[in-house]
This record gives sequence, structure tokens and C-alpha cells, in this order.
Amino acid sequence: MRQIPQRSAVPTALTWDLTTIYPDDAAFTTALGEIQTAADQAAQLKGQLATSGADLYRVTTAIFALYRQIERAEVYASLKNDQDTGNATYQGLADQADALAAKVGTAVAWFEPEVLALSADQLQALIDQEPQLKAYQHYFDVLGRQRAHTLTADEERLLAGASDIFDASAKTFGVLSNADLEFPVVQDEDGKDVRLSEGLYGVLLESVQPAVREQAFKALYRVYQQFRHTFASTLSSEVKTHNYTAQIRHYGSAREAAMSGNNVPAVVYDTLVKTVNQHLTSLHQYVALRKELLGLPELHMWDLYTPITGEPSLKYTYEEAQQEALKALAVLGPDYVANVQKMFDSRAIDVVENQGKRTGAYSGGMYDTKPYILLNWQDSLESLYTLVHEMGHSMHSHYTRTNQPFQYGDYSIFVAEIASTTNENLLTDYLLKTQTDPKVRAFILNHYLDGFKGTVYRQTQFAEFEDYIHQQAAAGQSLTADFMSDFYGKLNHRYYGDAVVSDPQIADEWTRIPHFYYNYYVYQYSTGFAAATTLAQRILSGDAAKRDAYLGYLKSGSSDLPLNVMKKAGVDMTQPDYLETAFQTFDDRLAEFKQLAEQLKRQ
Ligand SMILES: [Zn+2]
Repeated sequence: MRQIPQRSAVPTALTWDLTTIYPDDAAFTTALGEIQTAADQAAQLKGQLATSGADLYRVTTAIFALYRQIERAEVYASLKNDQDTGNATYQGLADQADALAAKVGTAVAWFEPEVLALSADQLQALIDQEPQLKAYQHYFDVLGRQRAHTLTADEERLLAGASDIFDASAKTFGVLSNADLEFPVVQDEDGKDVRLSEGLYGVLLESVQPAVREQAFKALYRVYQQFRHTFASTLSSEVKTHNYTAQIRHYGSAREAAMSGNNVPAVVYDTLVKTVNQHLTSLHQYVALRKELLGLPELHMWDLYTPITGEPSLKYTYEEAQQEALKALAVLGPDYVANVQKMFDSRAIDVVENQGKRTGAYSGGMYDTKPYILLNWQDSLESLYTLVHEMGHSMHSHYTRTNQPFQYGDYSIFVAEIASTTNENLLTDYLLKTQTDPKVRAFILNHYLDGFKGTVYRQTQFAEFEDYIHQQAAAGQSLTADFMSDFYGKLNHRYYGDAVVSDPQIADEWTRIPHFYYNYYVYQYSTGFAAATTLAQRILSGDAAKRDAYLGYLKSGSSDLPLNVMKKAGVDMTQPDYLETAFQTFDDRLAEFKQLAEQLKRQ
């Protein structure tokens, strides 16, 4: 068996270089002291910003400078901690940085309420007095949108004090599902006894043995079903909290309140749900093809995740993957490629697995650092996809940070996954253009189709359910387990169609989905994936203006509203066109996959 190395045994070239953030831990500790002093000074600025434009500028820049300092410290500590979570020194540094961040938050908690206490006209008059405040105009405009939804200081204090209580349903859900639920022992593929868990459930559902999948599915749902009334209670309370908070903050609905966080209008949500529903036949066809290719007399809900193409023979070393990534992303232009190459050459990537290293992958860093990437490299096609995905985030960060001031140097969640998923789409296109082996092509196509199914379709299904229960609760309907299961079962059948057996357990799937406690979050997965499919097509059209429009999005950061940024990039998310383009791609790739699968079967 392969041994996972200790952190100290990993070749330096494959580790990230954090000395450009702070030369050493002593410098980090010095910085913490400076931040503490700056935080104390920032607390003293309370009550000064409304006197003149010059004062507003002085206070605002001091606050942003403090944010910038603490972010740098937090990034250093968390990256150090992630490279080896078993290292007590870095656990300690991360704890110190977190504690200081909380202090900073308290020290400047007055700042936004103080700005919002000014009327829109008063604030604008101050901005107009001081030319340097122009650089903060959009920031103040966005902040000003909260004015109508901010309560009196006393009321805000009451709400802040109750925030823990408002979080109780989500916490209870988490404790019950992560800690208290006891899952039975089932058999894995080798007939070995294994204790079921949510994590293992995902693995067993990918088994090639139908009996293993069925047993896992039934065993898992037996446990959740025992507690379905408890889960109905936690979910119902969560929904009521969203509805209540939206109402007292003068929003038209919980959805409007939640979406206003990213400044995204409701029409984006409605357009998504409506358009996806017009293309459910494509999902039905995909499910029917799955049934045919698996050769099953009946397709059940537990048969939706097992691979239908088998593992591809494609393997890449990290060096080979770097070359493939550069070729796949070449269509984004020489400057983009040069910046990717720079990421490879400057030790911005922590490549290989080591003992104690945080699992998975991410792109991190902040305004004053490189965009760092954490990987746990395996020589596989999946790792190549992960590399270009995280590179998409890192290039988004790079272009934003080199084109925007600090106050616009980040970007909202609504647009973040679009940059990474566009890169995945470019890789898919590149692989389809260069790989000729039908087996490999089938795997790549299936990778795309499964991603589309799990993102665009499944997350929209969740979004539809989430919106329905919020609306029903707002209208006075009691969200009992039976009421929610009745709707969920029908919804699931509408999405997957007649080719799959509507196993009764699936009506209770809502009991185990943590995303229903995220408050209108999931729709962004669907809109992002669809937008990325469309943007990749525009880039691949060879029209330089379309490519530059895309790069314009990467450079925008949070300098404009997310919807405006995407519109300038070529995707109007209030209209169904971008979704239509994505479904056309899904249909085309489904047709090619079907053809290949039939060809492979004859061989
Ligand atoms: Zn991502």
C-alpha cells in the first residue's frame, strides 16, 4: 500500500510558498500586535464620519485598511493550518488569528450602522464633498440598499442577541444528522460488514453491484424515516425563521430577503425554475438511457449514481496535467496562459497529499497575496478537472485584484463558481477535440452529463421545493412531514420521469438535505453551471470580443452588481437564453454519448 508522506518529506517544489505573505512566523506574530493596535484605534473613530466628506474618507479608509490587515493574517494562519492540521503550532496560530478577527469585528461593528443612519441624500452630499470618495461610490450604493431593511438600534440589538436562538433549528438538524443518528451495518462490494454513514452512502451508491446500492439506500432511509417528524419540525422552524426575519425587515418574501444579499432579483430564480421545467424531457431521456446501458429491468433511485462507462484508462502525472491545462485554457488568450504558467512556476500550488493535510481542493489567498491553490493530487482525469476548476477561481482572483481597488477586490458567491465551471467546460471541449478513443470520449461526455444532472437539474429541484415550503408556510400551511413528503415525492417524479421507479423512500429525501437550511442558496449552483456552459461556447467561438467580454467579468470583482457583470460578459441571467444554450449543449452531448454507448456495446 502507498504510504502518505509526512509534511516534512514533501519536496519543496510541490509545496506552496507562504513566505511572500510573512517571511516567518515571528513576522506573523508582530503583525497580530499591529492589528490589535489598529483595531483599538478604529474603535475610537466611532461618531466621526458624518462631520465632512474628508472625515468620511478618513474613517472609511482606516476601516478598510484594518480589514486588509486582518485578512492577510487570517489567510496565512489558515493556509499553514490546512497544510498539516495535526501541527499544534499552526492550530494555535489559526486560533489566534480567528480570535483577533472576532475582536476586529466588534471594534468596527458601529461603522455600517453609522453610515446607514445617514439619509441617502446626506450620504451623497458627503461623498460629493470629497473627490477621493468616488472610489467608494458603488460600495456605499450597495450598502445603502440595506437602509430600508435596517431597524432601529434597539431593535437591531434585540435581533442580534437572539441570533443564536434563530440558528437553533439548523444546529439541531446538524447535531441530529451528524452525531446522533445511528446507521446500521451493511455489506460493501466485497461482502464485508461496514457501518453506514452519509459519507459511505455516497461510495456505496456508486457500487457496480445493484444489491449493494439497494441495501445502502434502504438502510439509510429507514434511519431517517424514524425521525421524519423531528426533521419536519427543524425544517419548519427554519423556514418560519426565514419568513419572520424577512417580514420584520420589510421584505416582500424570504426569497427576496435572501437574494438581496447578492443583489440578485427574483426573476433570475423564476426564469431558472420555469426553463428547467421546460427541459425535463432531456433528463427523462438521460435516465432512460442509463437504464438501458445498465441493463436493468427496473431503474431505481439508488441506480442514479453508479458509473455507466467504467473508469477511463486516462492517467496524468501532475506535470502532464499542467501541460494539458495550459492547452485547454489557451483559448482564453496569451495573457491568461502566462498567468497560469506563473502559478505553476511560483510555488502557488500545494500539490500532493501529506499526513494531516486538509482534504479536497480549494483556491484561497487574499488581495495582497498570490491566489494559492490546495490540491490532493492523484494521477487521474478527475484531478485534472480539479486543477482547471481551482485555476478558474485563482485567475478570477488574479484579474480582479490586479484591476480593482481593495474595496472591490473580492466577488460574490453568485458569480464565483462561474469562472471555475467555465474552465471545466473548456477542458471538456479540449478533451473531446483531442481524445479519439470512444471509451475515453464516452467517459468525458458522461462526466459532463452527470455534472449537469447533479447541478442544473438536482439543485433546481431543491430550489423549487425550498421556495414552495416557504410560500406555503407564509400562507399559514403547517409544514408537517406528510405535507412535505407528498410534494417532494411528486416533484421527484416530475424531474426524473417514468423511466425510474418512484421508490417511496425518496419522498422523504428532504429530511437529509443540509442545503434546505442555507436559505435560498442552491439556485446559484444551477444558474452558475448553465452560465458557464454558455460562456465557454462564446469563448470557443473564436470571436475575440466575446473572449474579452469574459475576461472583463474576471476583472470586475465586486465593482458592479453581479447581474451587470454577467450581462457585460454576455449572459443576461434575467432571460432564458443562456439556459436554452446550456440545454442545447446537454442535448447534443447526450446524443453523442448515446451513439458512442451503442457503438461500444456492439464491439
Ligand atoms: Zn469552486
